Amino acid sequence: MQNVYVLGDGQLARMLRQAAEPLGVKVKAIGLESKLSIDSLKQELTQPTSITAEIERWPATPITDFLSSQPCFVNQTVFAQLADRYTQKKLIDRLNLNTAPWQLLPEEDKWQDLFNNLDKNIVIKTRTGGYDGRGQWRVNKDNINESLPKELVGEAIAEAMIPFNYEISLVGARNYEGEKVFYPITHNYHQEGILRASVAFSVNSEHQETKIASEHPYKKNLLKLQEMAENMLGSLLDDLQYVGVLAMECFVVNSDDGPRLLINELAPRVHNSGHWTQNGASISQFELHIRAICGLPLLKPIIYNTSVMINIIGTPINYAWLNHSLINLHWYDKEPRIGRKLGHLNISSTDKCLINEALDALFLNLPDEYSDSIEWVKNTL
Ligand code: ATP
Ligand code: MG
Ligand code: MG
Repeated sequence: MQNVYVLGDGQLARMLRQAAEPLGVKVKAIGLESKLSIDSLKQELTQPTSITAEIERWPATPITDFLSSQPCFVNQTVFAQLADRYTQKKLIDRLNLNTAPWQLLPEEDKWQDLFNNLDKNIVIKTRTGGYDGRGQWRVNKDNINESLPKELVGEAIAEAMIPFNYEISLVGARNYEGEKVFYPITHNYHQEGILRASVAFSVNSEHQETKIASEHPYKKNLLKLQEMAENMLGSLLDDLQYVGVLAMECFVVNSDDGPRLLINELAPRVHNSGHWTQNGASISQFELHIRAICGLPLLKPIIYNTSVMINIIGTPINYAWLNHSLINLHWYDKEPRIGRKLGHLNISSTDKCLINEALDALFLNLPDEYSDSIEWVKNTL
């Protein structure tokens, strides 16, 4: 019996536990407020154990210090490096991978230079702690001085706004032997910096390969993008000597020479844009992470279906969503709050007509604010 401790007790830890249970792997989520005693933890660590995290950054407390200093804490040095956008961007640059032009936010008297150095539209992002689009300011030369808090100097990065055609992400995993596997790229739709919906196609079967050679802009470039993205994420995983699942979010910019991929950001963990794998892949991203960190067989997940994921954000649970047999609900049991991710719905099938039917059924039972996401999904399929 293997034990896994997860730093953090949110939905990602919950779904890791759900995926690990059938494997006979026991997952224990340790929240930052945990009252567990170090002595009882020490006792439990005499069993074969891996420690991982569902968050990128944590305050130093006796329990986080204890867990993160254990030799069985996987990817020990990676978290700090990727949790800070400044060191994350430096890593991407060092490996000569494409990303939005960027620099550290300089002293206020140099702010106007940013528009010459980077672009006329800039996004400022706090180095640490931002998620779901929080901790970001979109600025231009006319509003930067009044809209940006001065305390951000040195504590934020400035990056060029990329007029991307669309956004994708790639979730991949690496094991202790350095073997790597990847899912098909996921197409992502964000509103105000928060992920609303994802779509992923199979790139495994020949059947799908002929289908994706159609005229659709997403599908035409799919195989090329997949290869480019795997090469980029592969070099990051190897450079970091990473073990487990890591997600790479990218902007796709179409040009006459084909699509260009720019890395937006990296997340050293299972990722919201990989949630479709729970119902659309032979091995979900959660199981894949558990397999990798526990040294279990790491195999390429098989994907035959087209999959859709819709995030439930701030909307209370509604069991009418279950009135279509293709719809899978994953509810996180969190206190409802506006703007908070409370659950997600997965739809997965080889039959596009059935997926559309499920989306029509959902449309009737979701508030108006979901209609843009559903429309985007339908246009992407
Ligand atoms: P997450 O919840 O994914 O961790 P986050 O708060 O870390 O999000 P980012 O991923 O940096 O934020 O940005 C959120 C979204 O804002 C992006 O997915 C994209 O839609 C938009 N965005 C961010 N940076 C840029 C940029 N440089 N150019 C254009 N759009 C951007
Ligand atoms: Mg982020
Ligand atoms: Mg992001």
